[in-house]
Amino acid sequence: MIVVMQKGVTVEQLQSVMKRLQDFGFKAHVSEGVERTIIGAIGEKTDEKVQQLEMMQGVERIVPILQPYKMAAMEFCGQRSLVKVGKVVFGGAHVPVIAGPCAVESPEQLCQTAAEVAAAGASMLRGGAYKPRTSPYAFQGMEKEGLELLAEARQQTGLPFVTEVVNPGDVDLVGRYADMFQIGARNMQNYALLRAVGLSNHPVLLKRGLSATINEWLMAAEYIMSSGNEAVVLCERGIRTYETETRNTLDLSAVAVIHRLSHLPVVVDPSHGTGKWRYVPPMCQAAVAAGADGLMVEVHVRPEEALSDGPQSLRPATFAEMMSKLAPIASAVGRTMP
Ligand code: PEP
Ligand code: MN
Repeated sequence: MIVVMQKGVTVEQLQSVMKRLQDFGFKAHVSEGVERTIIGAIGEKTDEKVQQLEMMQGVERIVPILQPYKMAAMEFCGQRSLVKVGKVVFGGAHVPVIAGPCAVESPEQLCQTAAEVAAAGASMLRGGAYKPRTSPYAFQGMEKEGLELLAEARQQTGLPFVTEVVNPGDVDLVGRYADMFQIGARNMQNYALLRAVGLSNHPVLLKRGLSATINEWLMAAEYIMSSGNEAVVLCERGIRTYETETRNTLDLSAVAVIHRLSHLPVVVDPSHGTGKWRYVPPMCQAAVAAGADGLMVEVHVRPEEALSDGPQSLRPATFAEMMSKLAPIASAVGRTMP
């Protein structure tokens, strides 16, 4: 439920409501908006508790959260959240771009790609060290060596990196290197993994499942948040439809829907969303116009030699050209891009 405080509520009034919520066994979270202060409270709600809280000084009203997700719901904060990854901020005026190869393949491939995306204005680096491939016979990633190469690329470029973790047992190891965890589409409903990253202090990029509804996606975010980690960024990466011309169908309406239902930032990944590099620049433009809080783009120095997702990877020159065209679109919707 949400406790909406009166305008001009005093610190003492707020503290005593927080104390009462704690005594009632609620987990409470204060959000100070421009107009109002609200408290998001999760716990067992009874009529008596609500009545007593409503009687307290400084309380205007109590509003139940009707959605099955609570901490991920817009009402819980009443305003958009910012998620920070080092100096990079998701959900603010600036729209960060995460770019890099699908998978870390070699020191040269990663180093060159990282330098190119940094020069073109990317804010973060991506690269998979653990690859959950559809086929067990396909390249599965460089694992720990890949993490070491990503850390080296971060040192050379200054870009923080996001990388996928596929096993609860790997969360500690990956967390020793990565700035942000990625939960891949195939693992969006791996609840043991969601809880494991929920117990960590690292921000999490939560990709939408291949056939997940927005409700299921927000419930997955709720798993992470209710485990203690509120730093979740959602990532729309296309869903399964009957269309075969593209690898998936990029659901750009998800950006608008998430912004209504949730306070969490949402980034768009047109590389997996379309599966074909030609469609990536126009869909990046459309995503920024729709209000996306970030982009994720696969870039490879030699896509024709890529061990995974070559057909959807941009060459560095195409990436740089695309980046140079995003600023006016961002500015038209009140955002900034490099
Ligand atoms: C990836 O980012 O390379 C990836 C595997 O993405 P998804 O989980 O969205 O398929
Ligand atoms: Mn990929």
